[in-house]
Amino acid sequence: MNSTTDGNANEFNEYVYSLSPGYNEPNVRAAFKNAVPLRTIVMFCYDPRAAQIPFMLARIWPHEVYPGELVLDKAGNKVGSNATIFPIVVAGGRAIDALRSITIGHHLFGVQNIVVAHHTFCGTTSFTADGLIDAFQAEQGADLSAVYERDSLAIRDFRSSLNHDVNLVRASAGVPRTLNIYGYLFHIDTDEFTLVVEDAQNVARAR
Ligand SMILES: [Zn+2]
Repeated sequence: MNSTTDGNANEFNEYVYSLSPGYNEPNVRAAFKNAVPLRTIVMFCYDPRAAQIPFMLARIWPHEVYPGELVLDKAGNKVGSNATIFPIVVAGGRAIDALRSITIGHHLFGVQNIVVAHHTFCGTTSFTADGLIDAFQAEQGADLSAVYERDSLAIRDFRSSLNHDVNLVRASAGVPRTLNIYGYLFHIDTDEFTLVVEDAQNVARAR
């Protein structure tokens, strides 16, 4: 059951760009592009031990900025940021969960690089796709086998999982063809990266 508070259906309209007076979609999109210099999207696991990934990526790619600083207007409203890295935090850092966010990030801000970061001792290496599907069936009475692509459920081999996810991003119709895509293994105990896959379309613009 949903529980909602009674209220005016329009009470939050003032917080919606597309409902602002004089709204013009192309102009608003252009303003967004200027508000944030997004260059790189990095997907990684929601495991707290992987939380350093965007910070460390900004260190090995020294032209990148993360987390950066917010840009305020004269009234103190938050209107932008100088971050060039946006994180997508999902189980295992798997690309299956990141595709829609890449499409939207590129539409609003433009993106040059996609980084897939899987990490050592990830929880998704602790089970198998079969084990997850069987347990869910037994515990919840529902069949997941057609819900998620099997190869995106668990990690057994990081070279395979990173290649799989770089290929998934590359094959997606929602991802511009010009993007450079990288697959890294992140070592949680040393905060170091190992580059495993590089699919760079436009190396001159990378990093
Ligand atoms: Zn993990």
